[in-house]
Amino acid sequence: MTRVALIAHDEKKPDLIEFALRHESQLETYDLVATGTTGQRLREETGLEVERKESGPLGGDLMIGAEVASGNLDGIVFLRDPLRAQPHEPDISALLRICDVHDTALATNLASAAFLIEGLAD
Ligand code: PGA
Repeated sequence: MTRVALIAHDEKKPDLIEFALRHESQLETYDLVATGTTGQRLREETGLEVERKESGPLGGDLMIGAEVASGNLDGIVFLRDPLRAQPHEPDISALLRICDVHDTALATNLASAAFLIEGLAD
């Protein structure tokens, strides 16, 4: 089954929830995983079933990165806040890097997220 990770920084979580609701019928065909707080909100505010890793600042981004390294993930939607530095910036950079190492699809904004979600359906 296609496995997709969903992550959003705090300022971007409302956008991700709205995106998930808009693409719910497509997303529910995927095996979904998310960082802790993002996953919690997706569970509460959408009808999607989501596996939750640790919260991003506690290592959730690295846990998702490890799945990329193991070849278990097909794509990541990671809505980053471009205006605020995050305390766990090194972990975020590591996740982006490992996606490039393994040529794993990665979308960091809503426009490309839509392409990713639809593209994985093919
Ligand atoms: P969160 O982590 O979903 O637990 O907020 C996201 C992140 O900061 O990378």
